[in-house]
Amino acid sequence: MAKSKLDELVSFCKQAGFVFPSSEIYGGMSAIYDYGHHGILLKNNIRDCWWRSMVQERDDVFGLDSAIFMHPTTWKASGHVDSFDDPQMECKKCHTRLRADHLLEDFGINADKESIEVVNKYIDDLRAQGKQIKCPNCGSTDLTPAKRFSLMVKSNIGSPTDELTEESVVYLRPETCGGIYLEYKNVVDSMHPQLPFGIAQVGKAFRNEIIARQFIFRTREFEQMEMQYFLRPEEMAERYEYWRQTRWAWYLDLGMDESKIRWFKHIKLAHYASQAYDIEYNSKFLGGFKEIEGIHTRGDWDLSQHSKFSGADLTMWDEKTQSKILPNIMETSVGLGRLVLMFLDHAYNVENVDDKTRTVLKFDPRLAPVKAAVFPLLRNKSELVDKAHALAHQLRQIYQIEFDDHGNIGKRYRRQDEIGTPLTITVDFDTLEKDEVTVRERDTMAQERVAISKLPEYLRAKLGF
Ligand code: ATP
Repeated sequence: MAKSKLDELVSFCKQAGFVFPSSEIYGGMSAIYDYGHHGILLKNNIRDCWWRSMVQERDDVFGLDSAIFMHPTTWKASGHVDSFDDPQMECKKCHTRLRADHLLEDFGINADKESIEVVNKYIDDLRAQGKQIKCPNCGSTDLTPAKRFSLMVKSNIGSPTDELTEESVVYLRPETCGGIYLEYKNVVDSMHPQLPFGIAQVGKAFRNEIIARQFIFRTREFEQMEMQYFLRPEEMAERYEYWRQTRWAWYLDLGMDESKIRWFKHIKLAHYASQAYDIEYNSKFLGGFKEIEGIHTRGDWDLSQHSKFSGADLTMWDEKTQSKILPNIMETSVGLGRLVLMFLDHAYNVENVDDKTRTVLKFDPRLAPVKAAVFPLLRNKSELVDKAHALAHQLRQIYQIEFDDHGNIGKRYRRQDEIGTPLTITVDFDTLEKDEVTVRERDTMAQERVAISKLPEYLRAKLGF
């Protein structure tokens, strides 16, 4: 079978140390992935850029790191226990589990948020028109009717000898914002914010997704970066617009080509929401626009539900109106793994240079996993190797640096281009005499001689930080 575009990315990510399939020696686990050295460096850089813009550079957003386990009632109050599910069908021939709403999308039918009865009616209507939904895996049209499939991942906590009871059931959080709602009162009492203000956190979330092969776009364990903004109801329209612009600008600032992202406006809204837009990215590897980030209004649904189920007073004193109010909320929510995929997809270029192909990841320097690589011209000349090691050690105090003395210089350039390293520095025989090195730029491949004493300053100017 011909390799698909996505297969090309999956094998590139494995070979270049970005992403590995989890538990591979045991046959793997579907929709679970591990991040290798370059993958975690890239992921941390994306996370740091998000945190910097959402928390560090602002005085109205506070950070939080809440636990994955929360009181089980949290998820009853939020509605997740009863209704966080997807419509699942199964192929009777190859037993692949399928998302009915995704299959319907291929016929131009939007079944988002519809009841299972409506989903099955859409399918029956198609059949009546002689149109058959097919299993994408084996092509069979013999599929079960759609049924509700809960996305909640359940576990138990307690001592190993405890009986497993209803009370000991806990859920691995399906989204990180639950922790924000539960800690909102502690944040108010400890940080004394005035409305409007936000709480942001980055952390793991778990969903028992019905899997179509989408690499790290849709995984069962993933990280979210969420910010919940608490405000007076009358401020919602203006602040919502402000956050939409702010999040859009974040992508452009990190080098995103504006023609590759777009807004998707949700028509069917959750009953508590007045506005919901997603930012979508046009992926060459997934073949089309895919949701990356959601920016949604939530009214006072979350705080009123948690107040009702816990009995806690979740109102806060508002200086402006001199009254106690239950704030409204709007959120920005983005998957970190989806951003890794998006930035890889965006940066990935295959170029023709001197009749040879060069794969190069053109990351913004802030995102590049490694900022500079240091090479000795020859690996069997100890004076060059020692000098290059010493230089790498010195620069490591400032930046993420890679030392490489494998293969010839051409191969080393190719390896660094493949992981998107903006600058490569070669120590040669002249270096020993003049204390100068050759620095090569990833995108232009231009080279210049730079004095070692000027290197930190030079790197700062080239990298921009
Ligand atoms: P989708 O429609 O793709 O299932 P969603 O609308 O259910 O996503 P939200 O619940 O709004 O997603 O979650 C917010 C963000 O979290 C998404 O925009 C996405 O970036 C990320 N996310 C959600 N589910 C997953 C997943 N299974 N794997 C990776 N990222 C995810």
